[in-house]
Amino acid sequence: MARSYEVDASVVGAGPNGLAAAVTLARAGLRVRVFERAATPGGGADTAELTLPGFLHDVCSAVHPLAFESRFFREFGLAQRVRFAVPDISFAHPLDGGAAGVAYRSLDRTADSLGADGAAYARLMRPLVDRATRVSDFTGDTLLRVPRDIPTAVAFGIAALEQGGPLWNLRFREEVAPALLSGVAAHTILPMPGLAGSGAGLALTTYAHAKGWPIPIGGSRSIIQAMVDDLHAHGGEIVTDHEVTSLDELPPSRATLLDVTPRALIGMAPERMPSRYRRALERFRYGSAVAKVDFALSEPVPWTNPDAREAGTLHLGGTRAEIAVSENAIARGGLPDAPYVLVSQPSLFDDTRAPAGQHTLWAYTHVPADSRADRSEAVIDQIERFAPGFRDTILATSSRTAVDVARHNPNYVRGDISSGSPDLTQLLRRPVLRPDPWRTPMAGVYLCGASTAPGPGVHGLPGWHAALSALRHEFGTRALPNLAPDGPSGPQ
Ligand SMILES: Cc1cc2nc3c(=O)[nH]c(=O)nc-3n(C[C@H](O)[C@H](O)[C@H](O)COP(=O)(O)OP(=O)(O)OC[C@H]3O[C@@H](n4cnc5c(N)ncnc54)[C@H](O)[C@@H]3O)c2cc1C
Repeated sequence: MARSYEVDASVVGAGPNGLAAAVTLARAGLRVRVFERAATPGGGADTAELTLPGFLHDVCSAVHPLAFESRFFREFGLAQRVRFAVPDISFAHPLDGGAAGVAYRSLDRTADSLGADGAAYARLMRPLVDRATRVSDFTGDTLLRVPRDIPTAVAFGIAALEQGGPLWNLRFREEVAPALLSGVAAHTILPMPGLAGSGAGLALTTYAHAKGWPIPIGGSRSIIQAMVDDLHAHGGEIVTDHEVTSLDELPPSRATLLDVTPRALIGMAPERMPSRYRRALERFRYGSAVAKVDFALSEPVPWTNPDAREAGTLHLGGTRAEIAVSENAIARGGLPDAPYVLVSQPSLFDDTRAPAGQHTLWAYTHVPADSRADRSEAVIDQIERFAPGFRDTILATSSRTAVDVARHNPNYVRGDISSGSPDLTQLLRRPVLRPDPWRTPMAGVYLCGASTAPGPGVHGLPGWHAALSALRHEFGTRALPNLAPDGPSGPQ
């Protein structure tokens, strides 16, 4: 007799990936229940008043380079569901003396602003920017699959090899263009130069010049709300304030999708897990960490460089050589005096974030795993370096150490916001070396978070891939569910 279950699929964790999985399964017509340990869904895409009343801060992610490019968000029609501001300047990289590298959405305008290195920069980026969506599709899968679009994979590989190796400065004559590229590559929190960092940096720079780096109106939680609304509209449920510590606690269902790390899965299924798979998960490594600082400001940041005042994102830390020194110090467990700092100024583009005339500023810097260092002074000093007078604009500060980041969300093991080092080995083995890395050897159990391919960021791709694998293996359907805003549920 066929067994009848209360739900068809359980999902643990309502981060962007858990919700992407839940939405995909619900749109295939399944009964889905999501369990989330926090009081609200969202994981790394939440927004809250962290400093003063009326100042809305993105608690984790703030800028969404993949909002228009991720295959899952394209299928889901995110751009039709959420209002985004797309700054003309995707990111800026101030240097001492008032100069700045500026990544405009227009590649031509960027190249024009880069003087002697403009043509070399354009030659590096043009083949990728012209294929931006194909770059996203190539990098958005597991690297173990044969790429569907070989010319894009080849163009991407050549650029990544060049910018990730010892010859990374060869094509450039000045300091601005290399600094601009290194500021993005440093997002990965890896030693520099390196292939994984250059690959991620080039992909993000490609999106910066294609559709820009969008900022959701209302904060990152607007993206979550769109997924929660769709899930509810298709019969899904979310149970908050519910931490799952063992798979045995879940209601019986045909599929279980876990938006958690390999480390957490080991804790949830010690008896059921085959020892070989357990050993493979134990080999998964977590990387360096971040310390975050959010500010409420009386006015916009007084950047010396006028373009920096119009940028959505800024990368601070000086030249390519200086950034490499500070990032390599982090990799060795040190705390540099002049660290790399990532800054977003969302309230310049979204007036829902702060009271009229006032502003929020989002910043984080890299630190060794498990660091207890409060980095607010180091971050303020680095902003002051390029915006003298910044300190006088601060109304309130909220600072979180790496240990605080890990306590807030167990997926950020020891403060690692990538839920596992995104180095080259772990891009192939994320979390294990298999063509279907989402499916575990335990019947019906899937990993679906950022520790699985293709890795960290708000793009929903690990969740979407895991859900498609579960649909194929547990429910016998190969058809892609229609995820479009007004689309009917059920396979296409
Ligand atoms: C400070 C910071 C800044 C970032 N900036 C950006 C950015 O600007 N742009 C970008 O694209 N990405 C950014 N990221 C990364 C991005 O937020 C993550 O890669 C993304 O959120 C991963 O999504 P996820 O669903 O895999 O995991 P998460 O977002 O971490 O969600 C996992 C969810 O599962 C829940 N959970 C975990 N264990 C359990 C359990 N046992 N039981 C029940 N629930 C559980 C957690 O509470 C959480 O809600 C940033 C991250 C941080 C921390």
